[in-house]
Amino acid sequence: MKSHLIFIGAPGSGKGTQASKFVAGKGFKHISTGDLLRAEILKKSALGLEVKMVMDEGKLVSDELVIRLLQANIDLAASQYIFDGYPRNLAQAQTLDKEVLKGGPSISVYFEIDMTKLVERLTNRRTCGNCGAIYNLISKKPKITGTCDQCGSTNLIQRADDKEEVIKNRLQVFQDTVSPVLKYYQDLGRLLKVDAEKFPDEIFNMISSKV
Ligand code: AMP
Repeated sequence: MKSHLIFIGAPGSGKGTQASKFVAGKGFKHISTGDLLRAEILKKSALGLEVKMVMDEGKLVSDELVIRLLQANIDLAASQYIFDGYPRNLAQAQTLDKEVLKGGPSISVYFEIDMTKLVERLTNRRTCGNCGAIYNLISKKPKITGTCDQCGSTNLIQRADDKEEVIKNRLQVFQDTVSPVLKYYQDLGRLLKVDAEKFPDEIFNMISSKV
């Protein structure tokens, strides 16, 4: 049975970029709880409005709601998954093992990066509203300003929570909650640490060699 991958890293540490590479190059399915929550907001349901208020402050949405959304959107028997943005705390890591993976194999990858670099990365991040391609206005500009290289859409957007004040909260929440998650996987011998400041291809090769 092939291992699922669990990506752990601060916002902006490159999880989404690697996830795209694993989807394109290795046939993984990418499940991002942040994307699932943003889709919920777009529906403008009562639940979506509640979620938006929490996300706009950079706080975490309730564990119970996130696991429900996750379970409803995966089929572990059919695909090898990348979990991106889940787990965010120790309780979620334990729930993922007990209620989702149920003993199935997984490798947790920690994207290590200097936190001070992240504010710059995140304020310059733009995402294609059509196909989801990720750009950075400094390090990975689209070839034609304002136009997606992949699909030609001119809808390159800044996420509402990629504004500087919200970013600082998100990074603080990450730092406050990640240590027990890393310890949990380390103790189980399932943690792989990668230097998130290396080039995306190097990171991809490093993770690929372990899967
Ligand atoms: P992300 O796209 O992973 O950076 O997530 C954006 C926001 O969605 C976070 O700041 C949280 O408000 C919320 N979120 C995403 N994943 C989770 C999770 N596993 N648990 C709780 N909240 C989450």
